[in-house]
Amino acid sequence: MSPDTGTPPRRTVLVVEDEPLINQAVADRLRAERYDVVQAWDGPGAVAAHAEHSPDVVVLDVMLPGYDGLEVCRRIQTERPVPVLMLTARADEADVLVGLGVGADDYLTKPFRMRELVARVGALLRRVERAAELHELAGPQRPQPVELNGLRVDAAARRVWADGDEVRLTPTEFDLLVCLAAEPGTVVTRERLLAEVWGWPGGSGTRTVDSHVKGLRAKVGSDRIRTAHGVGYALETGADR
Ligand code: CA
Repeated sequence: MSPDTGTPPRRTVLVVEDEPLINQAVADRLRAERYDVVQAWDGPGAVAAHAEHSPDVVVLDVMLPGYDGLEVCRRIQTERPVPVLMLTARADEADVLVGLGVGADDYLTKPFRMRELVARVGALLRRVERAAELHELAGPQRPQPVELNGLRVDAAARRVWADGDEVRLTPTEFDLLVCLAAEPGTVVTRERLLAEVWGWPGGSGTRTVDSHVKGLRAKVGSDRIRTAHGVGYALETGADR
């Protein structure tokens, strides 16, 4: 343990990738950004490294020897919730993964720019910290649950119910729903969702939004989220039901 010097605590990133050059390049770049980095090269090694080091975020390749990134994601998420950035070989692979509900929070398609990877890791960490702060609010500052069209969304407790049954959402799906629920019936653009949920201004990566909305729809009911084609999404108020 280093002495407390008033600087923010260093975060630990677990990098899982069987391609040695990519693994090392990602690790080197994250170390240069002042992260502590733990490296693993296969499925079993990733699960063991996660248990030993309790990383703050995991960068996880999908195709791995031993067992694949999906299985790694499932195993580590049952131990403790940790944000996962999945590295996929093709853009459409991300859609499939979201559909499977493996619990990854974000996806990056190879080849990717290191700068983009660093930004995504930073955004994931900020989201986790923001959620923790909200969770600690008490009294009048604590946001009240929202009830809408058979949905109950408790942003502070990070829990959601559809027609009385609790629904388990990934952190990303939950943040999307909270963002849409803030303005029911109003179309929120994909660019704005990207900026508010992922912390990504600039609007590149709207496909990521579509993938996660698909996952959210599958869990809360597809008729609850309306698509404004080419623009964005709105949470139905149920007024015209
Ligand atoms: Ca691989």
